[in-house]
Amino acid sequence: MNDLSLSGPALFADRDAGPLPRRRSVGVMVGSVRVGGGAPIVVQSMTNTDTADVASTAAQVEALARAGSEIVRITVDRDEAAAAVPHIRDRLAARGVAVPLVGDFHYIGHKLLNEHPAAAEALAKYRINPGNVGFADKRDRQFAMMVETAIRFGKPVRIGVNWGSLDQALLTRLMDENATAVAPRPAAAVMREAVIRSALLSALEAERIGLPREKIILSAKLSDVQQLVAVYRDLAVRSDHALHLGLTEAGMGSKGIVASAAALGVLLQEGIGDTIRISLTPEPGGDRSREVKVAQEILQTMGFRAFVPVVAACPGCGRTTSTVFQELAQRIEADIAAAMPQWRERYPGVEALKVAVMGCIVNGPGESKHADIGISLPGTGEMPAAPVFIDGKKAVTLRGPHIAEEFRALVAKYVDDRWSGGGTRRAPGQ
Ligand code: SF4
Repeated sequence: MNDLSLSGPALFADRDAGPLPRRRSVGVMVGSVRVGGGAPIVVQSMTNTDTADVASTAAQVEALARAGSEIVRITVDRDEAAAAVPHIRDRLAARGVAVPLVGDFHYIGHKLLNEHPAAAEALAKYRINPGNVGFADKRDRQFAMMVETAIRFGKPVRIGVNWGSLDQALLTRLMDENATAVAPRPAAAVMREAVIRSALLSALEAERIGLPREKIILSAKLSDVQQLVAVYRDLAVRSDHALHLGLTEAGMGSKGIVASAAALGVLLQEGIGDTIRISLTPEPGGDRSREVKVAQEILQTMGFRAFVPVVAACPGCGRTTSTVFQELAQRIEADIAAAMPQWRERYPGVEALKVAVMGCIVNGPGESKHADIGISLPGTGEMPAAPVFIDGKKAVTLRGPHIAEEFRALVAKYVDDRWSGGGTRRAPGQ
C-alpha cells in the first residue's frame, strides 16, 4: 500500500531537521584557515606552473585565490622550486593575497625542507605522500625528517595517500596475508585496506614522533568513484582526523566534473569531508581556476556554503521558440559576476541571493516564487507580459521592449533593499 501520510517514511524524517550533520573531526589551522573541527568545508586548489618560475606561480596562485580558493598547493620538487617559495609568498603578500600555501613534496621532501628553511617557514602546510618518501630503510627516516621539520616550524601536514603511488611494501604484505587467510577478501578490498592503513599508520607514526593531532589532515585519493567512497567511509569511522576529499585524476571537462561531483556528493552528504579539491585536467591554455568554481558549486548546490548568487533558469523547450530567456539569464549572471566584488563589500550575505529566469507560464510563476526575485517570461503564444515575483509574491508585470533592462534594475534594487540594511525585505534565511 502507498503511504500518503504527510509524515512520510522514516527514511526522509530528518530532511528538514536543519543543517546536515557532519562527522566530528579534529580542527587543523592551515595558516589562518581552519580545516575540520566544525569549520565550513574549505575549498582548495593546486597550481600547474613551474614553482621555480616565481612570477607565473604567484600570478596563478593569485588568480586561484581571487576565484575563491582558500588554500593553494604548489609543487616543491627541486632546489629551484624550494628556493622560489618564500619569494612567491612575498610577492603575493605585496599584492594583498594572504592565501596559505601548501608544499607538495615527493621523494626528496625531507632534503628540500631541511636545506631550504625559508621555504619550510613560508609554507603553511606540507603534503607528505607516504608512498613517495623513500624506499626500504630510508622510508621511515625520511618521513621522520619531514615530520620533525613540521614540528620545528609549527606547521601542519597532510598525509596524502594516492593509490597511484601506494606503499608497495605494505600492499604486498597485506596481499600475502590475505592469500593465506581462511576467507580471503577480494583484491580490491585488500587494496582499499592498504590505502587506509597507509594513511592511519603514517598518522600514528607522525604522532609518535611528536606532531600533535591538531596538525594532521588525512587524504586517500583514488580515481574510481565507488572505491573512493568506500575508502573514505572507512577512514571516517576509523579516525577523527580532518579529511581532505578529492577524486584523483578526475579527467577533463564534464567527465571530470561529473565524476568528482558524484563521488564527493555522496561523501559530503554523509557528513564526511572537511576540505575539498577538484582535480580537473584543464584544456591546453584553459582556466585553472575552473576547479575552484566547480568545488564552490558542489558545496553551494548541496547547501553547505554560499559563494555566489544563483541564477536558476529553466532549460527551455518547445514552448520557447525565442532565446529571450536564455539571453536574459546570461545577462543577469554577467551583471551579478561584474557587481560581486562591490556587492561583497557593501552587502554582506548577498551570496545567498537566488534569481529565477523562466521561459513560460508552465513552471515560471511557481519557480519564480521560490526564488528571492524571479521573472516568468512569455512563452510562444502567451501574452507579451512578464510577471515578476519578489519574496514569493507577484510584485509587478513588465511589458514592452525593455523587459530585460527593467528586470535587471529590479534585481539591483532588490539587493540594495535587502542587504544594505535599510530595506524592508525579509532577512536572509527567512
Ligand atoms: S518553464 Fe516553460 S519554457 Fe521553461 S522548460 Fe518549463 S515548460 Fe519549457
